[in-house]
Amino acid sequence: MTQSLEPETRITKVVMGTRLDHVPAPETQTFFTRLCVSCGEETVTEVEYPQDMAIVCNVCAPAYYERLAQEQHALLAIDASPEAKFRMIVIAATAMNRTVHRLYCDQQ
Ligand SMILES: [Zn+2]
Repeated sequence: MTQSLEPETRITKVVMGTRLDHVPAPETQTFFTRLCVSCGEETVTEVEYPQDMAIVCNVCAPAYYERLAQEQHALLAIDASPEAKFRMIVIAATAMNRTVHRLYCDQQ
């Protein structure tokens, strides 16, 4: 029996899309449609992702990430463009009725 001594690092790539019934105006933009790995509903993304990346809808995402973390001791790394992160912060801040200050970093 051969067993690697290296700790196994598994990276699950999950992309959060928007469930079709939560898209404000689907006809105004080009979308890619996949099925949510959690609920199986049609979920749209702005970018076409490779098939090895799971798509989870925005409705299932919080519970899905939490389950991954609990069952597989996963660490969550958020990989989003600065614009996408900014949009998420604005959405959260708007929901909490807070002001957003945008700070720019000189270095990329
Ligand atoms: Zn879902």
